[in-house]
Amino acid sequence: MKYQSTRSDNININEYEAIYKGLSEDGGLFVCPDFKDIHVNVNDLLDKDFCEVALAVMEPWLNEFPRDILKGCIDSAYANTFDCKEVAPIKKLEDNLYVCELFRGRTSAFKDVALSLLPYLMKEASLACGVKEKICILTATSGDTGKAALEGFRDVDGTSIIVFYPKGGVSEIQEKQMCTSLGNNVRVCGIEGNFDDAQSAVKRVFNDVSMREFAKDKGYHFSSANSINIGRLLPQITYYYTSYIHLCKSGMKVGTLVDFAVPSGNFGNILAGYLAKSMGLPIGKLICASNSNNVLFDFLSTGEYMRNRDLHKTISPSMDILLSSNLERLLYYASDCNSEYVASLMQDLDKDGKYKISKELHETLLEIFYPSFASDKETKEHIQKCWEEYHYLMDSHTAVGYKAILDYQKDEGNNRPCVLLSTASPYKFALDVADALGISGENVQSVSLELEKLSGQNVPKGLSEVHELLVRHTDVCSKSTIDEFIKGALEVWK
Ligand SMILES: *Cc1c(COP(=O)(O)O)cnc(C)c1O
Repeated sequence: MKYQSTRSDNININEYEAIYKGLSEDGGLFVCPDFKDIHVNVNDLLDKDFCEVALAVMEPWLNEFPRDILKGCIDSAYANTFDCKEVAPIKKLEDNLYVCELFRGRTSAFKDVALSLLPYLMKEASLACGVKEKICILTATSGDTGKAALEGFRDVDGTSIIVFYPKGGVSEIQEKQMCTSLGNNVRVCGIEGNFDDAQSAVKRVFNDVSMREFAKDKGYHFSSANSINIGRLLPQITYYYTSYIHLCKSGMKVGTLVDFAVPSGNFGNILAGYLAKSMGLPIGKLICASNSNNVLFDFLSTGEYMRNRDLHKTISPSMDILLSSNLERLLYYASDCNSEYVASLMQDLDKDGKYKISKELHETLLEIFYPSFASDKETKEHIQKCWEEYHYLMDSHTAVGYKAILDYQKDEGNNRPCVLLSTASPYKFALDVADALGISGENVQSVSLELEKLSGQNVPKGLSEVHELLVRHTDVCSKSTIDEFIKGALEVWK
């Protein structure tokens, strides 16, 4: 399959190179100009399990991969890493309202779905590219990507990984999860600043010729595990299909439009929904839910993207983002693959910290997306409301999505089947969940026990164990010393 940059038609590569490189050298993201030719009919998948659906929906995007190799990657990724065989099980709250639990993997957040598979895809990709250097994954995380990537890549031959997280900008459990990571090929470092600082610092290293040369000299090549990598994005299409299939099996007529509500930050999860829709899955609206960092809400409401604003620390920290990278892909696809147009918008963003899309493109987006956002107070109210109405315990990210569904139903007055993508286990953000329910306790462990008693839902093993593990990573650096940190790690690994 042919891939190019969102910012230029002149860069033409195949999927192997796209996965291996992660990000285009012109700063753009890899996209598929022939995406409109990709169709996967859900009718053909009604009796398939998660891995079979994953193969069917990813194969057309990765058609250079021999089928048995791709199947091998998928089967290894999901064999023993999730706590249930459905991988992403569906819970019914009431007629027409479902939750898809994407947090049943090793680190209890939805990023496990893609990051369990990415290392396998990357290994195949670098083999196919005939690359001699080992892969060094550089990743900025707002909390959940980091641990999921560390688990995915740890001790995978031919790879190493460095994770940067905003110091003080992730939850206590998230920090513990990352800083206790095992593996001889992993490093974790706090960055002074917020997630955007961390992300832009990592992006700069990718585009820094002297850093790339330095790495090459040590036998490494940088790549990314962020959701800018197509190997992260494509596995996420799967659960839109499996959710739909579940509804069909429960009696819904194939072809019925289903809405999806997606707690959004970097726009990767919901973009996979956009791709599923373009592949022919009968999706109605994609409900884009933000927290009080509502840059996506403002963009979708007004057509203008403005990144220059203060970042708020919220109780849904994995969505505390002002620069939603994958939005650039949406602009490309929704503007009929107009890379010149995307490049000009990105130039505006670089220069002025903002861009405005055409009226026509804005209208196109509003046909597909419904934006909404929730303050922390509203988020807590909805955790409680959901518990009271359905006895279903949801985390603070998922609750932002739940609030968005209620806004949407009030606004548009329809009652189509709707699937809320639940992106984290309530136990990953136990203090805030407990607080929302009026449960007090001294620490994460004690409130988790209370929540367990209340709900009968067990604390995932990975989360209960983390408190006993040794903290191995204590480094902190700044935007200006990140180069030194990376060089130091490469020196040791070389
Ligand atoms: C990463 C994450 C999100 C946001 O997903 P994007 O793909 O970045 O939009 C939402 N919730 C949780 C728990 C996450 O870890």
